[in-house]
Amino acid sequence: TAPEALRALRTPAGPGFDPESVRRDFPVLHRTVNGHPLVWLDNGATTQKPRQVIETLAGFYATANSNIHRGAHTMAREATEAYEGSRAAVASFLGAASPDDIVFTRGTTEAVNLVAQTWGRAQLGAGDEILVPVLEHHSNIVPWQMIAKERRARVVPVPLLPDGQIDRTAFADLLSYRTQLVALSHASNVLGTVPAVREMIALAHRYGARVLVDGAQAVAHFPVDVQELDADFYVFSGHKLFGPTGIGALYGKPEVLAALRPWQGGGNMIDSVEFGRTTFAPVPHLLEAGTGNIAGAVGLHAAIDWLTSLDRTAVTAYEKALTEYAVAALATVPGLELLGSAPERISVLTFTVAGYDPAAVAEWLDRDGIAVRAGHHCAQPALRHYGVESAARASLALYNTRREVDTLVASLHSMQQGV
Ligand code: PLP
Repeated sequence: TAPEALRALRTPAGPGFDPESVRRDFPVLHRTVNGHPLVWLDNGATTQKPRQVIETLAGFYATANSNIHRGAHTMAREATEAYEGSRAAVASFLGAASPDDIVFTRGTTEAVNLVAQTWGRAQLGAGDEILVPVLEHHSNIVPWQMIAKERRARVVPVPLLPDGQIDRTAFADLLSYRTQLVALSHASNVLGTVPAVREMIALAHRYGARVLVDGAQAVAHFPVDVQELDADFYVFSGHKLFGPTGIGALYGKPEVLAALRPWQGGGNMIDSVEFGRTTFAPVPHLLEAGTGNIAGAVGLHAAIDWLTSLDRTAVTAYEKALTEYAVAALATVPGLELLGSAPERISVLTFTVAGYDPAAVAEWLDRDGIAVRAGHHCAQPALRHYGVESAARASLALYNTRREVDTLVASLHSMQQGV
């Protein structure tokens, strides 16, 4: 039975948001796994898709499939409009001033690599520094290491406090006129930490540094306004936002994007090609060589429409209450230790259970139909901050419920009781 503290937290969902109503939109949430109703707690890895996204994808291929820009026929025009309509939707979703500030990519990883290979190659020189907090995902560390090596620049880790917050004093001390870039996530995929990004950007700008914000884990949890943040670059993946895989976006300030050279050559990114001299299209097309993920972009638009049709303030409040409930519930499991306890956090709960290998924990939970991830979560420096190489992670989304948290906790109790 739930202790008193849990019962007190078991308040009904706030006005404006009922997780049960959105669950109806997700066909996969109604399947069973190993004979149990699916409990999908691996949203940090990827979110499930509402039928509005699934139907849009199927509908595009069934009725509207065409390449874009090239063809002078009706369906090419329609596909172009749909693709560019998605760009406009992404721009407004992120608070960008213009669709031209948005470059489609395969996802967050490709967007970070694009910035490293274009902006980084042009801007970084010997002795320059890129500040990267220890909690970053590998995709916001490794591309910087690669370009830093090439340009004889340095990647400088920004340490964490014991609770998983970025050490802001150390950050202020590390900033200098050598700092060309700060690359930090808007929400950590392993500790859930939501750093004070706006303040950190303002501080970095005092030294003339640019700031790239990795929004992969943020965009599904709270509204983002890149202009209010004053971010120079903002990147995210569609599949963590209830949209398809293989599509994501890079936002760049117009003056920063306009200065970028192309990183891949091919169709769509040129103005005129001659063997003597090729001229290029303006951004964003300059950075989108070849046929993009047209259906994916259209599906991403559907995902954005779906999410923004909800009362997002109520969603964020619901997720916060659900996280508090989960933290209290998990605390009832003997030997369970949560990594990170920053006050500002998203609904990511990474934990170890004394005496159990995290892979075995995930396997046990899977037998009960509960999907959590175990491993290093592509954030080895963050895990090593806590002295561990591997942990289990339950990452919650807006469609998860207290009942599902109870199922998780009951399964962990039964693992310890060996039943
Ligand atoms: N950044 C963060 C914080 C993430 O959580 C992830 C994915 O787990 C990524 C970057 C990479 O995203 P993708 O694999 O979609 O490119």
